[in-house]
Amino acid sequence: MAEPTKKRVIILGSGPAGLTAAVYTARANLEPLLIHGPLPGGQLTTTTDVENYPGFPEGIMGPDLMQNMEKQAKRFGTEIVVDTVIEADLRSRPFTLKTNSFEFQCDALIVATGAAPKYLGVPGEKELLGFGVSTCATCDGAFFRNKVITVVGGGDSACEEASFLTKFGSKVYMVHRRDELRASKIMRERVLSNPKIEMIWNMQLKEVRGSKKDGVTSAVLTHSSSGEEKEIETSAVFIAIGHTPNSQLFQGVLDMEDSGYLVVKPNSTRTNVEGVFACGDVQDHVFRQAITAAGTGCMAAIETERWLEAQHS
Ligand code: NAP
Repeated sequence: MAEPTKKRVIILGSGPAGLTAAVYTARANLEPLLIHGPLPGGQLTTTTDVENYPGFPEGIMGPDLMQNMEKQAKRFGTEIVVDTVIEADLRSRPFTLKTNSFEFQCDALIVATGAAPKYLGVPGEKELLGFGVSTCATCDGAFFRNKVITVVGGGDSACEEASFLTKFGSKVYMVHRRDELRASKIMRERVLSNPKIEMIWNMQLKEVRGSKKDGVTSAVLTHSSSGEEKEIETSAVFIAIGHTPNSQLFQGVLDMEDSGYLVVKPNSTRTNVEGVFACGDVQDHVFRQAITAAGTGCMAAIETERWLEAQHS
């Protein structure tokens, strides 16, 4: 393996959090290196129109927004490499990050590895993602005004999505695999008392039907115990069965909740390891928005800059 590449700051992840951290650290002359994860641009590259990111009154396509952010980060000198970090040694500084073919070292590390929505793996789900299948009601709900919408899941996320989607849809089906919601009492009550939401209990999503041209047209469900099938007409299917934070690399090293979300100090992006900062969805299971991810990316960059400065004073 060649000599390690040494940088003052390395940013892991290229979603809104990572790229915002890159813009800020680059403008602070820290010459950051950003390592792209397996999904360059993060979750926004899997959505179509983004209508709620401030500054774009007509909306912007998710991939375009991410390309713009990348251009902006590069303009100020961010170096971007596409590779997957498989090992992180944070026991001493400089920190060492290993990929299959390279070794990187840095004084400060910004973790912006995001979270991945869970999918069911049923036919039509991935194929129609962005064409009626979505994992984000806040992002895509407004495209289904006066349409029938289906939400899959029974936790707080599914309840929140279903309630929010009643603002747009003529009707919202909520498909849950059991006969009881996992969600908290208040969220359960909100859903069950909403006249626009119809619960479909004990059913699982088997297939999403439609085409890229016409969007989603129906969902095929099967009964959890009898296996009986049922097809419902719907224009959208929101999968809300949870997210998995991309924090596996830091297991046993960075403090994390049981669910894998990294723990940061209150009102900060500092982790339990000095010099390591976390921003975006890998440390946020509450808001999970592009703009909040970008906001914490900015915080991480400013905290990194101040921390590095303090090391040399
Ligand atoms: P969650 O609590 O893990 O719920 C996931 C739901 O999806 C469960 O109802 C589960 O069914 C269902 N599910 C999982 N895998 C499935 C599969 N293969 N097929 C069918 N259904 C499946 O996830 P979450 O709702 O995203 O919540 C995650 C955390 O964030 C929770 O701690 C939650 O309280 C929190 N949260 C809070 C808020 C809020 O307070 N406003 C909003 C969102 C999330 P079972 O119930 O049968 O397991």
